[in-house]
Amino acid sequence: MTNNIREIAPFSATEGVHAGRLDLTELGVHALPLDLSTTYPLPDLDVAEASLDALANGDAPVGNPLYARLHNPTVARFEKALAVLEGADGAVAFGSGMAAITAVLLAARICRAEAHQATTGGGHVVAVRPLYGGTDHLLAAGLLGMEVSFVAPERVAAAMRSDTLLVLLETPANPTCELRDIAAVVAAATWQGRAVPVMVDSTFATPVLQRPLAHGATLALHSATKFIGGHGDAMGGVVASSNEAFLRALRQVRILTGGVLHPLAAYLLHRGLQTLGLRVRQAQASAEVLAQRLLAHPAVERVYFPGLTGGDPLQLIGRQMAGPGALVSFDLAGGQAAAQTLLGAVRLITPAVSLGSTDTLVQHPAGLTHRAVAPADRRAMGLGDGLVRLAVGLEEVDDLWLDLAQALDAALRQGVPRVLSVAA
Ligand SMILES: *Cc1c(COP(=O)(O)O)cnc(C)c1O
Repeated sequence: MTNNIREIAPFSATEGVHAGRLDLTELGVHALPLDLSTTYPLPDLDVAEASLDALANGDAPVGNPLYARLHNPTVARFEKALAVLEGADGAVAFGSGMAAITAVLLAARICRAEAHQATTGGGHVVAVRPLYGGTDHLLAAGLLGMEVSFVAPERVAAAMRSDTLLVLLETPANPTCELRDIAAVVAAATWQGRAVPVMVDSTFATPVLQRPLAHGATLALHSATKFIGGHGDAMGGVVASSNEAFLRALRQVRILTGGVLHPLAAYLLHRGLQTLGLRVRQAQASAEVLAQRLLAHPAVERVYFPGLTGGDPLQLIGRQMAGPGALVSFDLAGGQAAAQTLLGAVRLITPAVSLGSTDTLVQHPAGLTHRAVAPADRRAMGLGDGLVRLAVGLEEVDDLWLDLAQALDAALRQGVPRVLSVAA
């Protein structure tokens, strides 16, 4: 892709509001229709059989959804909207981001088998670290029977093998907010001239700031639990792609494993899309202010934010991403003890995992989201014990800074957490 800003930042607030809603006036309703049926009347067996065959093939049902694990119209409407925002031909939604990632890994195996390139064993995955702790743990645990090479982005080409099913990366990466060059990883993801699918976990970016498919990725994945839902009250995961075979395989995996998105969650996630642009841009503007102020606070050793000087060494903002995002991580000089004090001292900000909510959340990756990653691996990926991740929300930025500053002051005064000193 070129330096054409309109190409890299095609998000339109109009699309955000209207995607997946264009037929509502015709239907005579204004709010999204919510269909909670688990089963559907089947008066015509011929129609039912044709529908079932289509669904089993990973296609849309013909005339009848049949059963809620196979298809749901409210979920399908959300998928259509997300596909529009990602510039994709389709999207497939799941009950959580992790269910979506699991389905991508299994679907990659189906796609490989269908292409008559079946390999012995479970196949191989190349994963660029750091990744979300759950993703890292799923891959490292070997639960799905795949061999995994964890690599730095510049080592992707060297890690490719004849049985590599998928290359997986996150940008911005969790929790260090490093930006990865999607097109560069896509270029490296080949084996003997054959392109290997690349999945980008774009959760931190959202379709407002980044469209991975425009840079050659096969799949763009979101934990919709985060910014897409936006209010901390609905879980979901969604994968967008223009690769028909992959979309079909994802639907087949969803039917077989049952990792479906509940229609009520689909309704809430779709409603969230309507304000996604506003929310992401507002949170990002506050994150830019907070990152600068954090940089100047004596309790803070280092700030990780792509919008700071030196924070985007590959100059991907403006080329791949429309802005630095709304996640800011920082190292506390006082290490883990200071982090613990900070989490106990915030009053307005909520000490909690997750991100992308209306309210600001702060968490300690080494102790929480990335606890399952081996300490040596955490250190190797630059994730220290004093690292704190701030997921900026929609409060007044000065209120956020007042709270953060008093908590940082507390961390500076008292490096040793109260709980530990009482126990000692
Ligand atoms: C939260 C998160 C996930 C997992 O999503 P769930 O909806 O919690 O299953 C995956 N990737 C990233 C980057 C996340 O932040």
